[in-house]
Amino acid sequence: MNQQVYNWQIGRKMSYPHAEAHPEWQFAFCFNLNRCIGCQTCTMACKSTWTFSKGQEQMWWNNVETKPYGGYPQFWDVKVLQLLEEANPGAQKWARKGEEFTFEGKTIFEAAEKRVGLEPERVLGYLPTDEEWRFPNIYEDTAVSRKGKPMTFDPEGTKLPEHKTRFFYLARICNHCTYPGCLAACPRNAIYKRHEDGIVLIDQERCRGYRKCVAACPYKKVMYRPTTHISEKCIACYPRIEGNDPATKGMPIQTRCMTACIGQIRLQGLVRINKDGSWAEDRYNPLYYLIRVAKVALPLYPQFGTEPNGYYIPPRWVPRGYLRQMFGPGLDEALEKYRVPDRELLAVLQLYQRTKEIIVRYEIKEGKKVYETVIHGKPFTLYNDTIVGYNKEGKEIVRTQVEEPFYVRPDKHQNSI
Ligand code: SF4
Ligand code: SF4
Repeated sequence: MNQQVYNWQIGRKMSYPHAEAHPEWQFAFCFNLNRCIGCQTCTMACKSTWTFSKGQEQMWWNNVETKPYGGYPQFWDVKVLQLLEEANPGAQKWARKGEEFTFEGKTIFEAAEKRVGLEPERVLGYLPTDEEWRFPNIYEDTAVSRKGKPMTFDPEGTKLPEHKTRFFYLARICNHCTYPGCLAACPRNAIYKRHEDGIVLIDQERCRGYRKCVAACPYKKVMYRPTTHISEKCIACYPRIEGNDPATKGMPIQTRCMTACIGQIRLQGLVRINKDGSWAEDRYNPLYYLIRVAKVALPLYPQFGTEPNGYYIPPRWVPRGYLRQMFGPGLDEALEKYRVPDRELLAVLQLYQRTKEIIVRYEIKEGKKVYETVIHGKPFTLYNDTIVGYNKEGKEIVRTQVEEPFYVRPDKHQNSI
């Protein structure tokens, strides 16, 4: 019997197989897709840490796919969107009330309850084929071509604000969802969400490999291991989050994929959660600020209904309609804020990859005005502010400035070749 739970990302209560139970802190992350260079360093950092053994060859807990054509497994998002559309034709829509948006369509949990002529299930999903799991980076760097004419570029090409010829990299890991589809579907209750940090794990002793979780996760972030006949998924590098990594001296440290990121697109942290599941106000936590105050980072496919805890600053050159379907109706506001950032946003964006440790609070010290200009018709002023980040113990762990340091190499170089 399903319960009613509140999902803030869709602005309403929804049906879910379990009653509300929320962690004290929630693992969350914020990826800036404008900066990803598709180098796959994150992918390899994860693979070389957790999935290098026999039976894990096709297992990529972190993957970076080139949108719109790439996907791991292939076409995962198109397939889930299609299943939802078939279950609720023409009605997968958002409604606006003042400043707020409500999703009026059906989530993967609601659509599963009302499958006409079929047995009700806990979660609407599908099991990808072996073929679909085979290529983690299929269509890498493949751009959208001229409409109706493959292998040609649109003459308008890369004119702003929306590029007709384009692609972008979508970096993905498990979202450690508030209402996980994987957990909801497991008939053995082998999947659980940790009270201390909201990380979603599979109990390897309880799992019997029914793969209900693989079918139910709309992001396809649970993978089956044929050598052990059980399922595995991203564990959010929990020893690092717990502060048990030898490098951290007891303090939480960001995951391997985050700290290895060359493009500095990733900021990972912990947000405090109230007993009712709402986010405790924490104005100067960088993630709280980016997601709840500046609203510049958005969840991936919020309409699926799992309340994912991965957030994205969308790529600003991509056609808005495509992005709105992917990141929800907050898209236009988020892009507007990012295109012409205010003083605070610009300072907080400097925190990306400046330290391995998890920053739970920041402070801005005002600096000198550097210049004024107009961006997209709006006035913009750059100040060289200093931003300081603190860890869970209140200790300063990073200090950096808005004006990035510029190094000029000396004329003389040593060359050992
Ligand atoms: S992304 Fe998928 S695997 Fe991860 S918690 Fe959500 S439903 Fe489960
Ligand atoms: S390491 Fe960073 S820049 Fe490179 S592919 Fe991964 S997310 Fe993108």
